[in-house]
Amino acid sequence: MALPLTSDSNQHTLDLDRAHVFHSWSAQGSLKPLVIAGGLGTRVWDFEGTEYLDFSSQLVNVNIGHQHPAVIAAIKEQADLLTTIAPSTANLTRGEAAKRITDRAPDGFNKVFFTNGGADANENAIRMARLHTGRDKVLSTYRSYHGNTGAAIVATGDWRRMPNEYARGHVHFFGPYLYRSEFWATTPEQETERALHHLERVIQGEGAATIAAIMLETVPGTAGILVPPPGYLAGVRALCDRYGIVLILDEVMAGFGRTGRWFAFDGYDVVPDLITFAKGVNSGYVPAGGVVISDPIAADFDETVFPGGLTYSGHPLAMASIIGALDAMAGEGIVDNAARVGREAIGPGLANLADKHDVIGEVRGEGVFWAMELVADRATREPLPAATMGQIKAALVGRGLLPFVQDNRIHVVPPCTVTDDEVAEALAAYDAVFTTVQGGHA
Ligand code: PLP
Repeated sequence: MALPLTSDSNQHTLDLDRAHVFHSWSAQGSLKPLVIAGGLGTRVWDFEGTEYLDFSSQLVNVNIGHQHPAVIAAIKEQADLLTTIAPSTANLTRGEAAKRITDRAPDGFNKVFFTNGGADANENAIRMARLHTGRDKVLSTYRSYHGNTGAAIVATGDWRRMPNEYARGHVHFFGPYLYRSEFWATTPEQETERALHHLERVIQGEGAATIAAIMLETVPGTAGILVPPPGYLAGVRALCDRYGIVLILDEVMAGFGRTGRWFAFDGYDVVPDLITFAKGVNSGYVPAGGVVISDPIAADFDETVFPGGLTYSGHPLAMASIIGALDAMAGEGIVDNAARVGREAIGPGLANLADKHDVIGEVRGEGVFWAMELVADRATREPLPAATMGQIKAALVGRGLLPFVQDNRIHVVPPCTVTDDEVAEALAAYDAVFTTVQGGHA
């Protein structure tokens, strides 16, 4: 596909975009999106050769980096063989992709239901939990994002939540977040104990017999990379067991390498009943997601029809990209790299920045999944105002760094392939920009 490139391709792209593309989660009028023409590894660039270090991973997605040659080759090879086939067929590429995923899952997870992304994975997990239990309600936290479709957006707890009459039975509760504790806790132990007590009271208040599932991001991502305190997830598992509730762990953002582990929950003493995934499984090279299903829930549908499916579920190009991505991640030690870089470079680097800049209230995370919480006042923890966050974001982009900025936080979320030198480059950019922030203004 030879697109005509000219010296004004940047402007032409922007003109086309503003004339014809309706953007998600945006007021359309004042938009001036960044033009991106190509990428490789941790870098992307525009048509004029302006380069950016991608510390956003494009919505925390390209775990394997941009344009990994093995994934591109796998997609091309599949494209020559077969580009589309209905989900009802048996397809070798699909079977191999599913096996690679279940091989990484805990014992007792042997089936994968493929979707086109993360929201529809959660949508189908909710449906499975409701059919499995014969119950209705889904409990999820206020600080969560589960996707932008019917039940997933109602399960979402952040500012995007839409009370929506056709997705019934959603109830929200507070999860742990020690830095801004809802429970007046001052230690992780207190936060765990009180957050679990709160959840149990919500379960009892709603009536356990009405609750199909508790759906949690293992590490809430967009809401702030809220690493759960010790014992919390195991405690939720125990509550689910006590009250016969299905535990759905949403690993769409946290899964497949981001935390330095294949699944984020591998780092906690917990095994869910349903695992949802997307993003990192193939770094979004072709849209894909899915639900990894534990044996008892899968067995429900041995004789009964599972009422779900999409024309493109298990699409061959997506499946080939999953195989390419997971094999390259395993063969090249990419998940281990994420763990090491987090431990040796990002974590200590952010801690140094926090020592130097009062604007950083807290740093938290692991692997290539970190947040810096920016405050106007360290004592009161008052969030840095939105206008200042906007100035910080613009200053970082001006220095050639693509940041992930959400509310009063900068999420440090490069690809799992990031090098120590690239981390040093990003830290220098954050450092330079924070130096200009005085008394809450940039
Ligand atoms: N779940 C989590 C935890 C996410 O972070 C996201 C997207 O950011 C989704 C679900 C929705 O995924 P998608 O945008 O692929 O539908």
